[in-house]
Amino acid sequence: MPESKRLEGKVALITGAASGIGGAAAELFAAEGANIAAADLKRTEVREAVDRLTASGASAVAISGDVSHRADAERFVQACVDRLGSIDIVVNCAGVTTRYAPEDWDYEQVWDWVIDVNLKGTYMVSRAAARHMRQAGNGGSIVNLSSIYGLVGRPEYYGTGEDPYPASKGGISMMTKDMANAFGADRVRVNALCPGFVYTPLTATVTGDDQWLKTMESMIPLGRLAQADEVARAALFLASDDASYITGATIPVDGGYTSQ
Ligand code: NAP
Repeated sequence: MPESKRLEGKVALITGAASGIGGAAAELFAAEGANIAAADLKRTEVREAVDRLTASGASAVAISGDVSHRADAERFVQACVDRLGSIDIVVNCAGVTTRYAPEDWDYEQVWDWVIDVNLKGTYMVSRAAARHMRQAGNGGSIVNLSSIYGLVGRPEYYGTGEDPYPASKGGISMMTKDMANAFGADRVRVNALCPGFVYTPLTATVTGDDQWLKTMESMIPLGRLAQADEVARAALFLASDDASYITGATIPVDGGYTSQ
């Protein structure tokens, strides 16, 4: 008997889908039978990502906009419903790191940007999606991208103590639990992944530094950083019925980093 696909007929909104973990999740979810709404700030790149998906036979649409803008977040969700018929799954991958803030910004501008995109953006998209899911009455699964730094502080050689990134990710971890509690009665599950360092454009400036890479690898029990598809596979598990009794969880995908 042919193996059934794990997301057959489901509609998945994936933000940050033009790159890294979001891109890997879009490919994997499409291969598992999901219809994909790929959203990203980068209009051309997200369109190209969707072209690749549709060329491989998937059903996918591209949407561009900024997750931290309420109107865009609500438009992403409405586009799923209007163009793909429903919304069953959200994977909140859109995110930024302090490392890429413009050099001439002061610390308050950096704080606002990182908290706006990472925390407020995840909130805006999740809120809009959960409202549709609860109203539709078919349940749903929201997967947030937190981080190891949503669970533990940064080591001295890496962190400054003044970086908004861990605060944004800690907020996502807590928001995940709070939404899970509130939405459970409507069978909307909300979970977070807490990846360690993953090879994506987001980390390129640090993973390209040999000394930094060696130090980081020495702190990870599995002795290496992750590939984007290893995080996408964890997202697939949480999005699918394989995780039907899991909600409010913050799951490390970190090679053991936070177990020490
Ligand atoms: P990535 O390769 O940089 O992909 C993130 C995508 O989101 C990019 O295309 C980015 O566009 C887009 N984006 C940024 N701001 C946006 C906004 N306001 N609205 C819509 N899209 C926006 O990053 P990634 O490594 O895949 O990271 C995905 C998520 O996992 C992030 O939340 C990140 O914090 C989290 N995470 C990553 C790692 C890691 O090591 N890579 C570890 C732990 C957690 P631009 O390129 O224009 O910014």
